[in-house]
Amino acid sequence: MGINKVQFQKGLSMAEFMERYGVEEKCHAALVALRWPDGFVCPYCGETHHCMFERNGLTYWQCSACRKQTTVLCGTIFEATKLPLAKWFLGMHLLTQSKNNVSALELKRHLGVRYRTAWLLKHKLMQVMCEREAPRQLAGRVEVDDAYLGGERPGGKPGRGSENKVSFIAAVQTSHTGKGVYVCLKKLKFTKEAVAEWAKTALSASVHVVSDGLWCFQAITAADATHERIVTGGGAQCVKMEAFRAVNTFLGNLKTAYSGTYHAFDFEKYADRYLGEVQYRFNRRFDLSAILKRLLVAAVRTTARPERWLRAEQYG
Ligand SMILES: [Zn+2]
Repeated sequence: MGINKVQFQKGLSMAEFMERYGVEEKCHAALVALRWPDGFVCPYCGETHHCMFERNGLTYWQCSACRKQTTVLCGTIFEATKLPLAKWFLGMHLLTQSKNNVSALELKRHLGVRYRTAWLLKHKLMQVMCEREAPRQLAGRVEVDDAYLGGERPGGKPGRGSENKVSFIAAVQTSHTGKGVYVCLKKLKFTKEAVAEWAKTALSASVHVVSDGLWCFQAITAADATHERIVTGGGAQCVKMEAFRAVNTFLGNLKTAYSGTYHAFDFEKYADRYLGEVQYRFNRRFDLSAILKRLLVAAVRTTARPERWLRAEQYG
């Protein structure tokens, strides 16, 4: 066995991170360069002529045409934040470079902020990752399985269909050697309608899907996909293991990473956001040195998401 290329890649060291983004001015300059790479463009009218001034320690751009004032944070996920950008950046570094998931509680300790502040930062960044991954479509050979997480409340039945657990679909696109390349995860109730709906958005044309015999997976052909159902029962375990090696490995790692990390209630309520974070990180794990910059680009392109919106029940 050769060394694992994903685990041994260089990534962005804490020393490099501090040199690049260790102080407020550098973080601010980085956001300006990412948001307006060719110079200021008014977000309200598209004008480029402007003047700049400082007020209460913030830099403002005033448009020469419509006269509206803006900061580099307005209209992005950072809008209205009271947290210094250096802390935001450190939070993003921790979330993208750690091997395991970093909880809001850990962020609170590392950043020296209140829990509520850490929770908001974490959920805003998960929302950025989720929205960035929303158009993801898998291609080629894809292993699909039903999966269950959470369910810390007592009284549930074990295994498939346990009513206290969050059910989600896990799909892994494999390489020619059978390794996982990209994943798509989605909270789902396992009905034919829900699986058909998911297949139409998450699978590109001519995908070859491999799944087990769970009846609702028949609806995968709602997308332009071929579908191979491997129904096992006694005897054929090794065939099954081989056919689902990538998705089983992925789910095994996911369950290990999640054990003890998250508050079960939070996971159940915001499952799509948590799954979006896992999906985002997995699908970019081959280039850890670039992932922070990519997250920054996505963050300045994601619209403001206030606390009330983040805590609403749309994921419930
Ligand atoms: Zn303007």
